[in-house]
Amino acid sequence: MKALRKMRPARGANLESVPVPTPGPIEVLVRVRAASICGTDLHIYGWDRWSASRINTPMTFGHEFCGYIEKVGSEVTSVKPGDFVSAEMHVNCGHCRPCRMGQPHVCQNVKIIGIDADGCFAEYLIIPIRNIWKIDPAIPERYAAILDPLGNAVHTVMAADVSVKSVAITGVGSIGLMAIPVARAAGAAKVFAVDVNPQKLELAKRVGADATFSAAQPEADGHSDRRTNGDGVDVLLEMSGSGQAIDSGLAMVRNGGVAALLGIPSDDVEINLAERIIFKGLTVLGINGRKMFETWYQTQSLVTSGRVDLTPIITHEMRFEDFEAAFALMKSGEAAKIVLHVD
Ligand SMILES: [Zn+2]
Ligand SMILES: [Zn+2]
Repeated sequence: MKALRKMRPARGANLESVPVPTPGPIEVLVRVRAASICGTDLHIYGWDRWSASRINTPMTFGHEFCGYIEKVGSEVTSVKPGDFVSAEMHVNCGHCRPCRMGQPHVCQNVKIIGIDADGCFAEYLIIPIRNIWKIDPAIPERYAAILDPLGNAVHTVMAADVSVKSVAITGVGSIGLMAIPVARAAGAAKVFAVDVNPQKLELAKRVGADATFSAAQPEADGHSDRRTNGDGVDVLLEMSGSGQAIDSGLAMVRNGGVAALLGIPSDDVEINLAERIIFKGLTVLGINGRKMFETWYQTQSLVTSGRVDLTPIITHEMRFEDFEAAFALMKSGEAAKIVLHVD
């Protein structure tokens, strides 16, 4: 089969021919139809400090996909060949304390398929059966391929409880963009988007933001202040991971408000805790992955009900073989979500 592999610890990747893997007794083999490129994949492709510390080459990357069950292990009874599926790629251990206390999304021993094991940028991949998510066949393949990042947006929005509240989203890359219709569907009263990229702010308006602010303009905070009568927003959804955005995002939240942080800073972030969090009585939530599998149920319902339209967020659909052009588009910031069609 064809697989997009990191062959050595350096920038780039190669389309290689490798044997089709065989599923173990409690695993399944999935034939990949569509896969999408995550910011994480861009880090792995470009080979940054994080990749160098985490990834063992050679390996196949990619973790956002949909496909069809090709073959099931001897003990698998819950799916059959031909079923339309995606998967939760965080494989939890099942025996650590968070796992046993119903918090497997923060498992201490998590392994991520596409990071710690061969991923979905290939014609086939292996998934443990308990991580398989059966997809409603009514969901088109290009949407089914991005349920994983959509799940990140859903998890963040649901954790923050946005109902009839004003919401600011800092960083409208693909997950920040997805969070806009999700927050709307969850009943947000107002949604504001902040980013440095004017194209992304345009997209934010198209998917339902009430107002957008350029983070490049220092008066960005002041804008949302005016729109909320000077009170600040009830909820911050931080999706950028930029220290600057986290700081100005926290400044935007009203006293007693909530900040849900999903964006991952690449370095330590300096925050005036007293002014930004303690005196304001903020509730700060760290968001990791998707709740297993509550978030998946919520995500699928939002898509099948038609309340979250992903069309404007998928800016490019390309052939798997054109991965180099796809990664270049991601890097330029021109693309939001790119779906690669495999086969
Ligand atoms: Zn991802
Ligand atoms: Zn665990």
